Amino acid sequence: MSKTKNKARLAALPLGGVGEIGRNMMVYECDGELIIVDAGVSFADAEAPGVDIVLPDTQYLRQHADKIQGVFITHAHEDHIGAIGYLWEELAVPVHVSPFAKKVLANKLSQLGHKPGKRVVEVQEGQRYSAGKFDVEYIAVTHSILEAFSLAIHTPHGTIVHTGDYKFDEQPALGASSNLKRFRELGEEGVLAMVGDSTGAFVPGHAGSESTLIPQLEKILQEAPQTLFFTSFASNTGRMIKMIDLAVAQGRKVCLLGRTAQNMVSHAKELGYFPGSLTNHLISVEEAAGTPRNKLMVIASGTQGEPNASLTRLSQGANIKGLKVKEGDVVLMSSKMIPGNERKILDVLNNLVKLGASIITEDMDAVHVSGHGGRADMKKMYDMLKPEILIPVHGEEAHLVEQGKWGKSCGIKTVLQVRNGQKVVLGPEEPHVMQAGFPHGVNYVDGFNILDDDIWVVGERRKISYNGIVMVALAVGQETRELMADPVVHSRGLIDPTLQGELHEEAQKAANDVLATVFPDQQVGDLVQAEEAVRKAVGRVFRNQRGKKPVVVVQVVEV
Ligand SMILES: [Zn+2]
Ligand SMILES: [Zn+2]
Repeated sequence: MSKTKNKARLAALPLGGVGEIGRNMMVYECDGELIIVDAGVSFADAEAPGVDIVLPDTQYLRQHADKIQGVFITHAHEDHIGAIGYLWEELAVPVHVSPFAKKVLANKLSQLGHKPGKRVVEVQEGQRYSAGKFDVEYIAVTHSILEAFSLAIHTPHGTIVHTGDYKFDEQPALGASSNLKRFRELGEEGVLAMVGDSTGAFVPGHAGSESTLIPQLEKILQEAPQTLFFTSFASNTGRMIKMIDLAVAQGRKVCLLGRTAQNMVSHAKELGYFPGSLTNHLISVEEAAGTPRNKLMVIASGTQGEPNASLTRLSQGANIKGLKVKEGDVVLMSSKMIPGNERKILDVLNNLVKLGASIITEDMDAVHVSGHGGRADMKKMYDMLKPEILIPVHGEEAHLVEQGKWGKSCGIKTVLQVRNGQKVVLGPEEPHVMQAGFPHGVNYVDGFNILDDDIWVVGERRKISYNGIVMVALAVGQETRELMADPVVHSRGLIDPTLQGELHEEAQKAANDVLATVFPDQQVGDLVQAEEAVRKAVGRVFRNQRGKKPVVVVQVVEV
């Protein structure tokens, strides 16, 4: 092995999640060995129509596969754990997860036809797990999911604290509080770098405690004249269970609609987070339909207006096994609108109002607190850890820069800004960001396929979705090389089918004319030349007549 490869060096390289929210993946390198912290997904936007999920580009990991010592997951949110299933075979190393995350992961793996096996290592708060040169310690933090952790990554060149997603909540709905004692101790021991969540960089003060919501949630339950439909992120199991507790205390039965919510509750039950006394108050949809409406709370999925979610279907008037939203019902959306989903959510809300329900959202009432710390939470973390270097991650450009400024004004000496694909060297040489970039694009999960470094599929699909498609078929005699019939033209997504006739005829004429010009002897000698000429001529007709530049596909058939 060459010396340069195993150079004594501590470095960090984000492959996703820095300069964007979602798709978190950080690679740490120590003396030639690597570990990966988090492997998350993000969701495709209009730029990638039809794509299901977006994954980090793992080219770098494939190039260094034999150096990877392990994967360490901070918590079970999709943007941190969602990619593991897709990388399961590629990353043949131990994957460290909490007991709750292990259950979430097991579901994902089985959906993709994988078995967790011995590679999944269950971690416990306060414990250390060694992986080559690294020694990774799990420290409890509060967030909007059970069992979230910061990682103290101990190496021969110093300790890095990778905060994961965090806020400081002394009264979380469920589960442990942040281990402040350990963060302080780490600060005393010396922290070389803090790699910190930037999501709340513009939020003044603290994010707030889950417990502050309780009086408001109780009041809403009390005042709901009929059924209360409650929706929040299913992964916020703590809030969901707290809500079930409050509803039961008021004599309501609770029905869980949707598989994710049911899964989360069953994981919580298995791990002892779900109070046994509540179990008898959970009822099926069929039972819910027969329960007096004012004695019922329904937990429905669909905080973001997802088309298949139960709340979306109910808002469209669906009757789910006898359960419907009716006059007098209250729908409580205990979640935030994720940017980009506003229209879908507003459609759901408008439809619910049409059905006679009243709606309560974050905008109207204190019914949601963020799982990401505000500036005061960040300062608290800086003060405890006293890091020499701050590296802002988990944010869009503006969040990263803002946390950088905030960290400096709170007294952190060095702030190093990196983006996906940029490596930051932390020691033993002087800390700096390397000039050279590393592969860091996106991979798309598209149906059964993973589109790796895609340069065609999504671009073509986007073009077709914006501009429509025209298909032209040419029949050419194999022997005679003559055109055997007039070109046949079809189009999709451009013109009403009942009005296509004239336009298609014009395209057909253009194809005939151009072939006559290119091949004056009526012998279609060069098929590639024929395709190209017809493609351009037909494209021109649609451009002139419809002002569109459709994708034109010319198919020459030899007969
Ligand atoms: Zn999270
Ligand atoms: Zn996150």
